[in-house]
Amino acid sequence: MAFDAEIVRKDFPILQQQVYGKPLVYMDNGATTQKPQAVIDCLVRMYRTMNANIHRGVHFLSEQTTECYEQSRRTVQSFLHAPFAEEIIFTRGATDSINAVAFSFGEAYVHPGDEILVSEMEHHSNIVPWQMMCDRKKARLRVIPMHDDGTLDLEAFRASLSGKTRLVAVTQVSNTLGTVNPVADIIREAHQAGTRVLIDAAQSVQHLSIDVKQLDCDFLAFSGHKLYGPTGVGVLYGKRDLLNEMPPYQGGGDMISCVTFEKTTYNELPLKFEAGTNNYIDAAGLACAIDYLTALGLPEVQAYEKRLTQYALSQLKNIPGLRIYGEAPERAAIFSFLVEGIHPYDMGMVLDKLGIAVRTGTHCTQPVMDHYNIDGTVRASLAFYNTEKEIDILCEGICRAKKILLA
Ligand code: PMP
Repeated sequence: MAFDAEIVRKDFPILQQQVYGKPLVYMDNGATTQKPQAVIDCLVRMYRTMNANIHRGVHFLSEQTTECYEQSRRTVQSFLHAPFAEEIIFTRGATDSINAVAFSFGEAYVHPGDEILVSEMEHHSNIVPWQMMCDRKKARLRVIPMHDDGTLDLEAFRASLSGKTRLVAVTQVSNTLGTVNPVADIIREAHQAGTRVLIDAAQSVQHLSIDVKQLDCDFLAFSGHKLYGPTGVGVLYGKRDLLNEMPPYQGGGDMISCVTFEKTTYNELPLKFEAGTNNYIDAAGLACAIDYLTALGLPEVQAYEKRLTQYALSQLKNIPGLRIYGEAPERAAIFSFLVEGIHPYDMGMVLDKLGIAVRTGTHCTQPVMDHYNIDGTVRASLAFYNTEKEIDILCEGICRAKKILLA
C-alpha cells in the first residue's frame, strides 16, 4: 500500500491535540521526534509486567528483561547492518556515544601532536568532546571548512589528512543546514590515509538507510529519541576489533569480569562499555520504534520525505525576503531560514501562537552561525508524519508573521 502520512499520523497521539486552539503542527523533529502508540505501549507494558534488573537475576522477570535487552541489541544490529551484536553499545544518546569514543579511543590511540578532524557544521556534541580530549592528550583539533551553500570543502578535507590524523568525526546530516554529507567518500579517503572515522548519525538515522558494513565506518553514534524512540537511550556502533582494543571509559557493575582490590579484569564486549544498570526499558522502546519504522517501509518513508522536502523548498523559496541557509543538492528535510528584518526568535514566537512548533537559535552549531555571520535561524525539521498541508500552514504563518512584525 502507498505511504499515507494522514493515516500514519494517527499512530502518534500527541499529534492529535491542539495548542492555543489550533491543530498542532510539529516541525521540531530535529530536536526530538514524537512517539508512536506502539512505543508508548511497549514502555508501559514493560513496567507493568516484566520490570527487573538485567543480567543479574536468575528469576523469571530478570531473565525476561535480559532476553528483551539482548533482543533489542539484535534489532539495532540488523537495522544498522552491523556484522556482530556485540558491536552495538547502548548509551544515553549520541552525545554520550561520542564522549565514550573521545575518552576511550583517545586514551588508547591519541598522542601529543596527533590531530582530530571535525567539520565546520558539526553539532557541539561532535566538537566539544574532541576539544576536551585534545586538551587531555595535547593533540590538535582541525576543522574541515564548508562552502556557503552548506556543502563540505572536500579539497580542504583531503589537504588536512596526514599521518598525524588519528580520527575524522563528521556528521552524516547537518542538523542546521540539512546537508547530507558524502560520508562514504570521506570514510574511504580517511582510511586510505590510515585514519579512523566516527559518523554522527543523530540526524541521519531517521531519514536514510544506514549500512555500517557497507559504509565501513569505524564508529557511528545516534540517539533513540530522534528515531521515534524514548529519551535517555542511544547507540554507539564500533568495529569489534577496535572496541576490543579500547579501554572502558566508565567503571562499575556489569562491565567487570572479576574484581579484587589488587586487580580487576573487564567483561567482554559489549558489557565492557555498559557500566552500571543500563537503560534496558528504553532500549526495548528504541527497538520497538525501529520495528515500527521498518514495518512502515523505509523506502516508502524515504521517498515520501524526499517529496515533502522538494515541496517545502519550493514553497519556502516563494516567500519574498526569506533566505534558506543550506542549499546542498543532497539534503534532508531540515530547513534553516531567516526573513529579512525579522529576528528568528520573534518569528518563532508568532509561529508558536499559530500552533506551529519550530526551533530558533543556533541549534548547537555556533560555528555554522559564525560562518554566515548571524546569531541564529528559524529551523523547521520534518518527519514522515508531516504533510504538504502543514507546510502550507507554515508558509502562511511566515507570511502572517511578516505582516505583524514588519508593520
Ligand atoms: N549530533 C547532531 C547532529 C544532533 O543534531 C544532535 C542533537 N541535536 C546531537 C548530535 C546530540 O544528540 P543528543 O542531544 O540526543 O545526545
